[in-house]
Amino acid sequence: MLEKYDVVVVGAGTAGCMAAKTLSSKGFDVCLIDRKGSRLIGDKVCGDAVGKHHFDNLGLSYPSGKEKEGDIEGVKVYSPDKSSVFNISGYGLAGFLINRYAFGQRLLKCAVDAGAVLKDMTHVSAPLVEDGYVKGVLATDTRTGEKMKILSDVSVDASGVSAVLRRGLPPEIGVEVNIEKDDIVICYREIRRLKKEVEDPRFCEIYLDQEVAPGGYYWIFPKGATRVNAGLGVSSRFSEANPKRNFYRYILSRDLFESSEIIHKGGGIVPTRRPLDSFVGNGIIVIGDAGCQVNPIHGGGIGPSMMGGKISGEVIAEALEKGDVSSKALWPVNIRFMENYGAKQAGLDIFRIFLQGLTNEELNYGMKYQLITEEDVLKASLGEKIHLNIGEATRRIFSGLGRLGFLRSLYVMARTIREVRSLYDKYPSTPEVFPEWRKNITEVFERSKRLFWK
Ligand SMILES: Cc1cc2nc3c(=O)[nH]c(=O)nc-3n(C[C@H](O)[C@H](O)[C@H](O)COP(=O)(O)OP(=O)(O)OC[C@H]3O[C@@H](n4cnc5c(N)ncnc54)[C@H](O)[C@@H]3O)c2cc1C
Repeated sequence: MLEKYDVVVVGAGTAGCMAAKTLSSKGFDVCLIDRKGSRLIGDKVCGDAVGKHHFDNLGLSYPSGKEKEGDIEGVKVYSPDKSSVFNISGYGLAGFLINRYAFGQRLLKCAVDAGAVLKDMTHVSAPLVEDGYVKGVLATDTRTGEKMKILSDVSVDASGVSAVLRRGLPPEIGVEVNIEKDDIVICYREIRRLKKEVEDPRFCEIYLDQEVAPGGYYWIFPKGATRVNAGLGVSSRFSEANPKRNFYRYILSRDLFESSEIIHKGGGIVPTRRPLDSFVGNGIIVIGDAGCQVNPIHGGGIGPSMMGGKISGEVIAEALEKGDVSSKALWPVNIRFMENYGAKQAGLDIFRIFLQGLTNEELNYGMKYQLITEEDVLKASLGEKIHLNIGEATRRIFSGLGRLGFLRSLYVMARTIREVRSLYDKYPSTPEVFPEWRKNITEVFERSKRLFWK
């Protein structure tokens, strides 16, 4: 069977629904495809925390009714020895614990109400590439087994970490196909009903511990007083660490979880790196987790993926009106995402690489001596520039403690963040000069990994 649309969006998650809604409401023919049945769309293993500012920025109404499961004022970040706790609150950290399924269903309804045609239970296997352009997708109706070619002027890969279109792109399209293993965090998460009350339901708790959650963290996010979303993520660099086993051994053994019951459980994968260097090629845009549009420090991707969906919808609409869907015509997606979030995300990725290289001892000292302050962590979570408190007094303390190597790494990290931000300030305005820019940015990240992970 052959069908033709202006745009095919693969994946009805947060990114795909936003892209489909934006385009459909402008009158374009959009086919929104998902391998899940429509009633399961939105059911995703997630931390379920979303900042208020994302709703403000996107003009979406705040979650309410059954979609909202908690109001959050901020985050507490614990050092590995738990002797230091950063209480971080403020506008950027205020938000909601959501019912992920109900929220996903709301976004799906927005897309379908705007006119998108939903093809659920449809598995996409590859992009259709002809004459250097993506011209649609190959798919199978999993109800009937029928094979389909769905043609489109533009295809959007919003299929999450599976990145089904991105992985099938030939090199000449110009989009990165593979993500490095060490840029991925593997998680296990449960939602539990408690017999006890959480200490403070207004605060999410994040615990840093390189032995329990190497290269990641574990979290306890309250959903009201007696329900929590708790989980643990480890960098796949540390393949011997098993997130589920460590979650049961170190987190569920706490008194808080005594006699608690599982409401929902499962594993998930988060890409934690800078965004793809380019999201676009002829006839294709890659967004959301497929495009690595995720905060690399805390793994929050709901907000950035919706931003990616909205920006791509707006740019595709302009390209279709001009009748040009080349990578040059779609390039403004790169420019707009990098300006709005990608440059900050890339700076944070240097911070992530630095943090992943620290030992528990270094984390304990760094937090205790306020080398990184609570305000810095707040700024970091928002993607703003962080200021390091490396004064003369600190230098003396560290020198006395024999930690000058750590101090030097801090300097290098701060300098590299500035280097990255200045490269993104010069993000190419057209695809022609992109290869040179990519070479430079790749070099900075490879160098940082060599240095901080030695
Ligand atoms: C354990 C965990 C905790 C997290 N916690 C948070 C958090 O607290 N806050 C936050 O903001 N973010 C969090 N994230 C990240 C966030 O969930 C994602 O960044 C976000 O959902 C990305 O949305 P997406 O639309 O790109 O992908 P998804 O929401 O994954 O949607 C992809 C869709 O594509 C469909 N699909 C996949 N392959 C195919 C195919 N071949 N054919 C057809 N359809 C296909 C899937 O069925 C799915 O519906 C967490 C992630 C994990 C794993």
